Amino acid sequence: MKINTDLHIHSKYSSGVSKKMEFKTLSIQGKKKGIDLLGTGDCLHPRWKKKIKDLNKERESIFKKKEMKFILTSEVETKDRVHHLLIFPSLSKVKELHERLNRFSSNIDSDGRPRVELSGEELALMAKETGCLFGPSHAFTPYTALYGKHDSLSSEYGKYSKDIHFLELGLSADSSYADKISELHDLVYLSNSDAHSPFPYRLAREFNTFSLHELSFEGLNKLFQGKKGEVVRNVGLPPEEGKYNQSACSSCYTHFSFEEAVSRDWRCTCGGAIKKGVKDRVEELSDTNESPKERPPYIHLIPLQEIIAKAVGHSKPNTKKVKELWGSLIESIGDEVEVLCNAPVSDVKRIAGEQVGKLVKDFRDETVDIRPGGGGRYGKILAEEKNESKNNQKSLTDF
Ligand SMILES: [Zn+2]
Ligand SMILES: [Zn+2]
Repeated sequence: MKINTDLHIHSKYSSGVSKKMEFKTLSIQGKKKGIDLLGTGDCLHPRWKKKIKDLNKERESIFKKKEMKFILTSEVETKDRVHHLLIFPSLSKVKELHERLNRFSSNIDSDGRPRVELSGEELALMAKETGCLFGPSHAFTPYTALYGKHDSLSSEYGKYSKDIHFLELGLSADSSYADKISELHDLVYLSNSDAHSPFPYRLAREFNTFSLHELSFEGLNKLFQGKKGEVVRNVGLPPEEGKYNQSACSSCYTHFSFEEAVSRDWRCTCGGAIKKGVKDRVEELSDTNESPKERPPYIHLIPLQEIIAKAVGHSKPNTKKVKELWGSLIESIGDEVEVLCNAPVSDVKRIAGEQVGKLVKDFRDETVDIRPGGGGRYGKILAEEKNESKNNQKSLTDF
């Protein structure tokens, strides 16, 4: 079976997350997005876990609310401030790991994403012993990620580097970036949203299409181990859109080449710090130009509400008009994945207008110009000629 899945989201119990992150909303919104399976996020948190228990249990790791299925997932932060994503085989294993992690945290339940005084290697061992699927979250972002802090898998995971099941690319990287690092060639790449709110321009803004022999923890396990099933495609933002794509000042957002940033000792003229971009970071670590033969395609798309906003000349994706057009498209065509990937462009034009249809096509054809993000500010897609005079660029996905 083929499924669309977003395996990394957060519940309302994580800091900085919308109060709307509830299962009911997630199931309704996820369906409209065209997603079949969502990660629960935050399953180590007692209050969120209680809500998981209220869902219909389909299998040990799979829960259901309305038409949406959820699999047990949580993000954990280790003492080096690196984030890791875990997928659990059952609630009893969630309980088991919670008990073990509790000994390494002053207050494990204070946040949906627990922070523990363990190294990546120690956490990898515990994940392995608990039978979890495990890998680094948003691996290339500068602040809280594997390659932001380390130069290799082994520097983070030590002797358990070979036990990592996947690598999450994050919004500022795609498969072509990660494939420049040969130690990643055997890993499955995940493209997840890391959504902090259920809005259609956040939830599943990146997702994966899997072919699974069975929608279960075991099905995913077999896929990650290369035994059965496959990743059909990764879908996500063009990396240039990510807020740390190029090296840029984190105060005034001036962009710098790698060489210039080095010669300035990573200090901007304004006095602010220049944050090394994911693109430069990947170049630094790159040791190959070859991609593995098996790597599935990475489809570059942005959320439909962002596309509509840009097409109609609105600076935000949540205006009344944008939401109305989005609603009409979803109602007529079915879900967002269908609109973005499969529906005839003529249908999109008929329902939402010429400009929206044209921009959907431009994204499918990958002919959209993007001004790269950097320093913490998202990239921008260049506006249509007709909008240029009033508003040269449309800002994209801020968190
Ligand atoms: Zn994270
Ligand atoms: Zn500056």
